[in-house]
Amino acid sequence: MANLHLILADQISESITSLEGLTKNDMVLMCEIIRKANYIPDHPKKIAFLFSSMRHFAETLSQQDFNVRYVKLDDGDNTGNLTEEVKRAILELKPERIVVTEPSEYHVLAMVKKWQSVFNLPVEIRPDTRFLATHDEFERWATGKKQLRMEFFYREMRKKYDILMETDGTPTGGVWNYDKENRKTPKSNMISPKRISHKKSKITCEVLKLVKSSFSHHFGNLEPFHFAVTREEALMELEHFISKLLPQFGDYQDAMVAGEAYLYHSLLSCYLNAGLLLPLEICKKVEEAYKAGKAPLNATEGFIRQILGWREYIRGIYWHLMPKYAERNTLNATRPLPEFYWTANTEMFCVAEAVRHTLDHAYSHHIQRLMITGNFALLAGLDVKQVQEWYLAVYADAYEWVEMPNTLGEWLYLVMAV
Ligand SMILES: Cc1cc2nc3c(=O)[nH]c(=O)nc-3n(C[C@H](O)[C@H](O)[C@H](O)COP(=O)(O)OP(=O)(O)OC[C@H]3O[C@@H](n4cnc5c(N)ncnc54)[C@H](O)[C@@H]3O)c2cc1C
Repeated sequence: MANLHLILADQISESITSLEGLTKNDMVLMCEIIRKANYIPDHPKKIAFLFSSMRHFAETLSQQDFNVRYVKLDDGDNTGNLTEEVKRAILELKPERIVVTEPSEYHVLAMVKKWQSVFNLPVEIRPDTRFLATHDEFERWATGKKQLRMEFFYREMRKKYDILMETDGTPTGGVWNYDKENRKTPKSNMISPKRISHKKSKITCEVLKLVKSSFSHHFGNLEPFHFAVTREEALMELEHFISKLLPQFGDYQDAMVAGEAYLYHSLLSCYLNAGLLLPLEICKKVEEAYKAGKAPLNATEGFIRQILGWREYIRGIYWHLMPKYAERNTLNATRPLPEFYWTANTEMFCVAEAVRHTLDHAYSHHIQRLMITGNFALLAGLDVKQVQEWYLAVYADAYEWVEMPNTLGEWLYLVMAV
């Protein structure tokens, strides 16, 4: 066999660089692995979403006649360890080299970097081109700056990708940022539009059965399960967001309403982070909706800023500051995480709501994460590591690269100052 092409759980994308040049003589390796040591168990919905998406992706590749070695969680031989699974594949298949796209998390990259000497085999680590700013670009931007302000990074990205820009180089509408218009008070009894749901495939039903039997003791409710698990379904989510929700996204971006888990938020982060959707395609489609008169500028700019600005900036900060970043606890916050983060059993209504939504949906919107559970953690001086582990485990979109800077940088006030 020629090459072993590894696809990680958050690389479920046909345009991932590790698949470039894939031939019918190669083998794609995908493994269902559960984070164990030192970690809080993941929300069952997050596990089901990822495993079902991975299995559908493997099926798509197989249907195109590519060889796929897919190791299911309950396969008798599954060691539950990625390095061991790669080793097993090498021993059985004898590839000439391993091809992998750079993992999104620091500790996984550190592990992959050891493989060449561990396996005595060439390991080609390719860049993750799904992100819109390269590591070098971010470093160049950050170097020599006293303050790393997202707003200025975002403007560079707008120019680079020519999004919401006029031909004379000025921002569409004359200003860069419409945040001031995006803080409307919700109308009384406001109910946000109904979300789409997806018919469960045979694969999803099998995964739900597996997750139910193995992980029902984890924090969070597995069912009802409405997630998209294929690229086609994720694109339907995107279209639904743009046509039905985007026009109001800006106005109510900062709102909270009792009983409303989603309001006008897109719910796209889990698809984006796993690879089912790509950031640039989302920004372009949202911009198209604006140009076609289907969404106002405050909503369009506000939404694009989240993806082209915040998401890329957060990733840049993570790689810029790791690995020392993970050890920060500037305010010496050490108080244990209270029980109500697991039960929602508290008289603080907003906290109870945020935790209830998290239990039910593996989701709560940004303002709940920022102003409620995050702000409480800051005020109460909750243990930084415990808070981070909680955020990492309970949300379907959570990966260390995006969870850590959001938690450390903004909420626990451990400052992005370098
Ligand atoms: C303490 C804390 C922890 C967080 N942990 C995560 C996490 O693990 N994974 C994650 O994807 N987001 C995280 N966020 C950011 C943000 O809350 C979520 O991206 C958002 O709530 C996802 O819901 P949505 O798709 O409906 O977002 P929308 O409100 O519809 O926003 C659109 C998109 O913008 C991006 N985005 C917006 N804000 C941010 C941000 N601050 N950082 C990165 N991307 C952003 C997301 O991709 C999101 O899908 C965290 C925020 C806080 C305050």
